[in-house]
Amino acid sequence: MRCVAHLIPYSISMKKDIRALSKEDLRDFFVASGEKAFRGNQVYEWLWNKGAHSFEEMTNLSLETRKMLEEHFVINHIEVDKMQKSADGTIKNAVKLHDGLIVESVLIPTPTRTTACVSSQVGCSLDCKFCATAKLKRMRNLNPDEIYDQVVAIDKESRTYNGMPLSNIVFMGMGEPLMNYNNVLKAVDKITSSEGLGLSPKRITLSTSGIPKMIKKLADDQVKFNLAVSLHSAIDEVRSQIMPFNEIFPLTDLKASLQYWYEKTQRRVTYEYLIWKNVNDRPQDIAALVEFCKIIPCKVNIIEYNPIGDDQFQQADPIVTEAYKKALEKNHITVTVRRSRGKDIDAACGQLANK
Ligand code: SF4
Repeated sequence: MRCVAHLIPYSISMKKDIRALSKEDLRDFFVASGEKAFRGNQVYEWLWNKGAHSFEEMTNLSLETRKMLEEHFVINHIEVDKMQKSADGTIKNAVKLHDGLIVESVLIPTPTRTTACVSSQVGCSLDCKFCATAKLKRMRNLNPDEIYDQVVAIDKESRTYNGMPLSNIVFMGMGEPLMNYNNVLKAVDKITSSEGLGLSPKRITLSTSGIPKMIKKLADDQVKFNLAVSLHSAIDEVRSQIMPFNEIFPLTDLKASLQYWYEKTQRRVTYEYLIWKNVNDRPQDIAALVEFCKIIPCKVNIIEYNPIGDDQFQQADPIVTEAYKKALEKNHITVTVRRSRGKDIDAACGQLANK
């Protein structure tokens, strides 16, 4: 049996979040407390399959056992503080964390699928000029349970309002998921495990602003989910203007990391691409994207831009979007033009800012 000293707090004030414990930890805790190991399985089931928010709910445990748990642990969980529903069916949740901080997650329904867009950090430390979240200071990383809970909350809403379970997840909410690497991967493990939601990793996409070292790490870790990169320009000078960290991680480094990703995983990458007037709407911007797309197999999602209340960025002329589309298709690159959803409730791409 493993050492369980770390599971037993010294005082009530140091109560540990029971959801940070694995099933094995819980079994060890019960054995160390003189109870049967299977109690650990029961508690685990209450926490993760039945979504219990209190020990009182764990009715197949004796009163004494529940009291003992109460003395040692807390159950930190999220609460959907406010739910907003868009005219197009999109739902935005303002999610309150145990320490009172708020993040947002979004349910995007279509006739064939429902997608959850979840947050990985409270605020963001990167400074993408077009993004509303960038205006919020990064407060902290979300822990794996807080990420998982957003997904569970959206799954429930999807069943209630759309009559179908959640089918896809994108890590494209608040924060840069690769700057909270371990917790995001732990959350994905829980989401895909049979004891969690049992969702296939093929239905999960991690969208990053493009941190080369971490993309390589994803490849080394042989993750099974999909990778998307918010590219927005394939010209360093332009990209650095709109995504200042590009100065530290220029496109040559990003390219090298994507080649590494493809060598290791043999899986294509998706490039997310917004087009703005007088920023990246010139013929040379289109040509640069086409060249960038030749590095490894890929597809391009051109996403409609949603203004975030300043005049710096404006959606490009539809003629330019069409020109991008034609040039990519001519070079046999798959391209989709996506209209953003949930604009009326500030739930669209790049708009999440706790409004
Ligand atoms: S686009 Fe993503 S990485 Fe960039 S500031 Fe917004 S949340 Fe952060």
